[in-house]
Amino acid sequence: MVSAEKSNLLGLSRAKLKTLFADLGEKPFRADQVMKWIHQRGTTDIDAMTDISKNLRQLLKEQTEIRLPTIVEDYASADGSHKWIVEVASGSKVEMVFIPESGRGTLCISSQAGCSLDCSFCATGKQGFNSNLTVAEIVGQLWWANAKLGAYSGEMGRPVSNVVMMGMGEPLMNFDNVMDAVDIMMDDCAFGLSKRKVTISTSGVVPAIDKMKDYTDASIAISLHAPNDELRSQIMPINKKYPIAELIRSVKEYMASLPDRRVPVIEYTLIKGVNDHRQHARDLAILLKSLPCKINLIPFNPFSLSDYERPSGSSVANFRQILQEAGYTVTVRTTRADDIGAACGQLVGDVVDQTQRSERHKKRAESRSGKVFDKTDNLAVMADRV
Ligand code: SF4
Repeated sequence: MVSAEKSNLLGLSRAKLKTLFADLGEKPFRADQVMKWIHQRGTTDIDAMTDISKNLRQLLKEQTEIRLPTIVEDYASADGSHKWIVEVASGSKVEMVFIPESGRGTLCISSQAGCSLDCSFCATGKQGFNSNLTVAEIVGQLWWANAKLGAYSGEMGRPVSNVVMMGMGEPLMNFDNVMDAVDIMMDDCAFGLSKRKVTISTSGVVPAIDKMKDYTDASIAISLHAPNDELRSQIMPINKKYPIAELIRSVKEYMASLPDRRVPVIEYTLIKGVNDHRQHARDLAILLKSLPCKINLIPFNPFSLSDYERPSGSSVANFRQILQEAGYTVTVRTTRADDIGAACGQLVGDVVDQTQRSERHKKRAESRSGKVFDKTDNLAVMADRV
């Protein structure tokens, strides 16, 4: 039986592995070897690490382990996308989604089980918060995607070229674990992903963005969703604490700290009659004038605990046009993998809600509709937040 105290090699950054080997009286290069075995070859058996002496392997087995989160559901879409439901140590389930496109494969992963921030358009927020994922539970999602897609069996080279932290949870509310996980994803002895291809998406936890530059140079996406404080505070409570001007200041400083020229992606979920007017687009164009960026528009995907509706195709097109005419590069998120419930806004979780928030939302929804609540409705749609 595996001891709970053993440290999990899957979630140790190279710096932490070096410390571990130093404590064992070993040379730092052992860290590189172990990382390659686990992350590049997909090894979960310490005995299989044949370039490490038998004695050291024995020592490692006594003091450490390689413990993965558990995949409990596995769905493949007709369009080539995949969705996996992952059970973490807290007992909650989170999701990750793989979306292949020409020339790249993007994996969307979760950083928390549930979320405490309660954005009004997001079903994850309505489930309440359960737990921060450990480094191994975050990195383990990428490990599993590689395993499932054939990277470790040699069937496929490197199926995952991009990682976006846009699944369940607010990554920067789980700062230390996310920073270590991103470090491992970008480490050449591990997954070796480019800093341009690892994106941390945040709703705007300003103090965390302020300190990010001391930990990483990963790319960043901002869930903005409104062009002014009044509206943003209504739909994203975090804005009351960290208003837009502060957020933009913080993002600019982070971008300025990067060694190369990159721009953040501004995510804007279009909700019918809430933030999708032409004037909102004009205001957004003015607001973002001082922040070089790309804008990603996401038509809202309705779910039963929300009164919000998806905007019409023409209002999405108008919104886009206004921004484009103002000089912005604008993309509109297209739906993928909706046959497996993994389209944007359809991520499923099953969170042990420690806040009882889901119960409150459920009662409100029932009293609105007069219908009996269907649990699967709650879990079936996470508003598109990235
Ligand atoms: S949009 Fe993001 S930050 Fe807001 S509640 Fe959902 S997961 Fe949390």
